[in-house]
Amino acid sequence: MRTLVFLIFLVLQNNLYADYMEVLLLGTGTPRPSIERFGSATLVKAGGHNFLFDAGRGVTIRLQQAGITPNMIDKVFLTHLHSDHISGLDDLWITGWVWQRQGLLNVSGPQGTHNLVESLRKAYAADISYREKNVNLNSDLTRINSKEINEEIVFQQDGVTIRSFLVEHAPVEPAFGYRIEFGDRVVVISGDTTYSENIVKYSKDVDLLVHEIAAASPVLLKRNKRLASVVAYHTNPEQMSQILNKTSPRLTVLNHVLLFGVSEQQVIAEIKNNYPGEVAMGYDLMNIGIGNSITINRINAEQP
Ligand SMILES: [Zn+2]
Ligand SMILES: [Zn+2]
Repeated sequence: MRTLVFLIFLVLQNNLYADYMEVLLLGTGTPRPSIERFGSATLVKAGGHNFLFDAGRGVTIRLQQAGITPNMIDKVFLTHLHSDHISGLDDLWITGWVWQRQGLLNVSGPQGTHNLVESLRKAYAADISYREKNVNLNSDLTRINSKEINEEIVFQQDGVTIRSFLVEHAPVEPAFGYRIEFGDRVVVISGDTTYSENIVKYSKDVDLLVHEIAAASPVLLKRNKRLASVVAYHTNPEQMSQILNKTSPRLTVLNHVLLFGVSEQQVIAEIKNNYPGEVAMGYDLMNIGIGNSITINRINAEQP
C-alpha cells in the first residue's frame, strides 16, 4: 500500500513537472544590426535543462539580461550556418569557459558544424593560452563536442525529446527546424525557411510555434531583384496564414523579423485576416510560459 501511494505521488509529481516549459526569445532579429532585435537565439527550458537554439549576435548579453550566465549553457542546437545564427557562438563558448562552465559545450548542427567549432578553437588559440597561464583555467575545457545531424532525435533525456527536421531555405542545405517535446507540451522552432511541408507536419496542434517572418512592400520587391530573392527563401504573411490554418498551434510567435517597407502591425493584421488563432509578434526577452495556460511576459522591460 505504501509503495502504491508513493508510486501515485511520483506519477503526480512527474505530471506536474512535465506540464510546464518555458521559451525565452533572446534574439528575434536578422543580419540587420539592431539594438531592439539581436541575432537569432531562442532558449527553451524543460526538464531542468537549458537548450539554446541558434547563437546569433549578442546572445550572451541577452542571456545576462535574463539572469543566465554563459556557463549555464552547454547545449546548443544550430538551425543552419548563416552568420546571423552563429555569430554569437564564440562569445557564448569562450566567456562560458572564463565563467568556469563545468564540462564542455555541446553543439549540434548541420554539416559544417565540425569545421565551425574547430576553426573557433584555432581562432582563439592565443586567448586560450593567455588565460590558461594567467588564471590557471583548463584549456581542455575549451574543446567543443560537435555533432553533425540529419533528421533525427537529437536529444532524449529526463522526459525531453528534441527532433530535428528539414526545412526549406535553399540554397542553404541542410537547414533544420526543431521540435521539443516535454510531457504533453510541444514547441516547434522553424529556423529560417520559406513555406515548408515539414513545418506543417511537425507543428500540428503544438502548444507554441516560433516561426520566422519576412515581408516587403510590392513596390520595393519590384524595384529590387536582390531583395526579392532574399524574401523568397523566407516565409511571407500569406504563407504564414496557410501554415497556421493547417496546424493551429495554441500560440504562434513570430521571430527573425525581416521587414522592408511594411510595419509589424501590418504583418500581424494580414495574418489575422486569414487565420483566426492566436498570433503575436515576438520581441527580444519575451518569455513564454507553457502550461495549462500560456503566459507571455517581458523580462527586463526597461530594455528597448
Ligand atoms: Zn537568418
Ligand atoms: Zn538563414
